Amino acid sequence: MKRQDNQNISKKIDGLFSEISKDQNQTKIKKAIQEIIEIAKRNSLPLRERRKLFCRKCLSYFFIGKNCQIKINKNIKAVKCLNCGNISRFKLK
Ligand SMILES: [Zn+2]
Repeated sequence: MKRQDNQNISKKIDGLFSEISKDQNQTKIKKAIQEIIEIAKRNSLPLRERRKLFCRKCLSYFFIGKNCQIKINKNIKAVKCLNCGNISRFKLK
């Protein structure tokens, strides 16, 4: 895999995410997130920070203050999805 390709895929994923953040249609959002995960898998491109933008269980995009609750304890950030109740934990740097 060439570096240039990875950059293009990265850009495509970013584009999809920015579309999602403007959208309120849950069905469309889920479809777009599924597409993002598939693109990342197919190209073995790690989502890294972008992984924190959505719920891995129900594929909801997190709208801060709307459908998720964020708690920070020591250096662990816990994001609770208010849609399915799943909690994702991330280590803060
Ligand atoms: Zn969820």
